[in-house]
Amino acid sequence: MSRYSGLPPLPEQLSRLDELAVDLWWSWNREGRSVFRRLDYTLWRATAHNPVRMLWMIARAKIEAAADDQDFVQLYQRAISALDGARAARNTWWTNRFPDNGGQTIAYFSAEFALHQSLPIYAGGLGVLAGDHCKEAGDLGVPLIGVGFMYPQGYFHQNVSQDGWQEEVYERLNWADAPIEQALTPDGKPCVTAVPLGDRTVLVAVWHVRVGRASLYLLDTSLEENAPWDRELSARLYGGDRETRVQQEIILGIGGVRALRALGVEPAAFHLNEGHAGFVVLQRIRDLVEQGSSFDAALEDIRRTTIFTTHTPVAAGHDAFPFSIVEKHLAGCWGTLGANRDRFLALGAYDSGGGALFNMTALALRSAGAVNAVSRLHGEVTRAMWAPMWPGAAEAERPVTSVTNGVHVPTWLAADMSDLFARHLGSDWMERQDDPAMWDAVLAIPDADLWAVRQALRRYLFTFVRERARHRWTDDRVGAPRVVAAGTLLESDALTIGFARRFAAYKRPDLVFADAERLARILNAPERPAQIIFAGKAHPADDVGKQHLQHVYKRALDPMFGGRVAFVDDYDLHVAHFLVQGCDVWLNNPRKPFEASGTSGMKAAINGVPHLSIGDGWWAEGFNGKNGWTIDGGSADNPDVVDALDAAALYELLENEIVPAFYDRGGDGVPRRWLTTVKEAIRSVAPRFSARRMVKEYAERMYMPALRAEKEVKS
Ligand SMILES: *Cc1c(COP(=O)(O)O)cnc(C)c1O
Repeated sequence: MSRYSGLPPLPEQLSRLDELAVDLWWSWNREGRSVFRRLDYTLWRATAHNPVRMLWMIARAKIEAAADDQDFVQLYQRAISALDGARAARNTWWTNRFPDNGGQTIAYFSAEFALHQSLPIYAGGLGVLAGDHCKEAGDLGVPLIGVGFMYPQGYFHQNVSQDGWQEEVYERLNWADAPIEQALTPDGKPCVTAVPLGDRTVLVAVWHVRVGRASLYLLDTSLEENAPWDRELSARLYGGDRETRVQQEIILGIGGVRALRALGVEPAAFHLNEGHAGFVVLQRIRDLVEQGSSFDAALEDIRRTTIFTTHTPVAAGHDAFPFSIVEKHLAGCWGTLGANRDRFLALGAYDSGGGALFNMTALALRSAGAVNAVSRLHGEVTRAMWAPMWPGAAEAERPVTSVTNGVHVPTWLAADMSDLFARHLGSDWMERQDDPAMWDAVLAIPDADLWAVRQALRRYLFTFVRERARHRWTDDRVGAPRVVAAGTLLESDALTIGFARRFAAYKRPDLVFADAERLARILNAPERPAQIIFAGKAHPADDVGKQHLQHVYKRALDPMFGGRVAFVDDYDLHVAHFLVQGCDVWLNNPRKPFEASGTSGMKAAINGVPHLSIGDGWWAEGFNGKNGWTIDGGSADNPDVVDALDAAALYELLENEIVPAFYDRGGDGVPRRWLTTVKEAIRSVAPRFSARRMVKEYAERMYMPALRAEKEVKS
């Protein structure tokens, strides 16, 4: 491989170490992780687990010593053969389930993918879902290819000023450190595709990310041949204005289909993860019209093989553009479709108040044959929200189903917990992870063993939080109050509540402070202290979200809470891992029904961190009365009243149930009553809210009908 060609070659015994580093497969497989962790633990931590970067930085003597260490070489060999096995496996869930399906692939389009912190091309939940979907599809053998954007400056890094205001810092990604490679066409040339944009042509380079058996292709306009403003198009995720956004979406949709063709991939079905990729259908209709179809026949054709997932009930989350902007930038895209230009534009027309706009969700709803929301409740909300799309249709007839989100268990489960499961559920538990009956064995895990793991995970979190605070103090030279806000005064044995997600108004990040005196009494109770760790970014254009963040930050600085409220900055996948594994309770208090699903609570629950949440999103179907707590303050017309009611309900749960159960210890210090909830959280959430269950559902209910339809059309 050319990446490290300036460095001396790797020793023979470890000759494929670079190949292991660049396939993100390592990140969710035990052997893969261990190789890099053991190779150089200091660098492993210093690079936030980035093996590609580690191989640049590592001392030659370390590599040579590793090559002479028999234990290490054996570990390496096990990892390499597991990687080869994963790539080659013929005997997968998919091949067994659909033995007569040969050679068809599904293209999965998404504006963001969260696979690993070393590839910062995600902002939040949507990206995490897409990343988990790809990993699980690979694990199951589902023939899925991801298509997205390579943002050279990624999403921003978060800096919080002394008075709590979020500042966005964009850093150019060092390509040499990222797990990406140039994508090659079938004849071995770097893949570059041309996308007509307005009255010009923009060139798009394509990068390849290896994700075990799955592949991801990322589009990038930062080519020298492009004009400076076109090079900037792919620079940042959600960084630009409306015009930038529509151009990005044209590149993703139209450029994505063209890039796949240039790569020699001809997908049988297309899955649009959120409306951002809606222009895929324009390119596909155009191709069919070019081959002689009528517009109607082409639309009918692509409908059968298009799957669309919608992700939010928040209106601002659905991109809608003035027609003039869309027309301006699509000018060059029509080709032979030109005569049907108005037909196409009508596919996106939607008036959600204030006049018709070109709405990407409307476009996708009208051109996908299969549409789903991401939880049962979100299905209901979506059918009501978009009712005008199907005039006269009763709720049950509106063609939107739901596939509830899930999380990739090998990615999100702590290693200590995974070992514990292996001992009590059987060493092959991962293969049976979506079988609810298998999880009953969790109830029989000895309390002391489970508690020991929970305690260890909390301690890892505190080590991480303190290290980050120290880094701010010594390297960034922030003032002492900000070091306190970063979590220095947290106690590693106290009940720890986690709240980490995007700071958006509907998520009500500061709800828990509604009655500050009451909260302070709960947190500062001398015998039974509690503490809250916050993390999360506000969208750069969302000043209201930033104000919520500022409120929370000021609380963290306020002596009245005794240093028991902390804000960990620059939330990303890395921080998320420590938080969802190391807290004791996971808090979520959105304004119902705006949380489509939510996934961080699932990540927490599988690690034995019960959910304390409004009955919104996935929790509306996940709560069973004993696996966590539902905050229900009752309803009212005035949102301020609802907030007050919900806050009161939250305090009551903390005071009467959560704190007492956590501190109800036997003589051995083990909280038996608490662990009943912990076990029930794991048992009930792990099988049902795993990405394994989710991807199987997509495969059976959404992909397979599309793939069969495609075969019929062809034959
Ligand atoms: C899981 C995750 C999210 C999504 O959290 P929600 O609770 O679903 O909003 C956002 N950001 C990161 C980094 C995550 O890991």
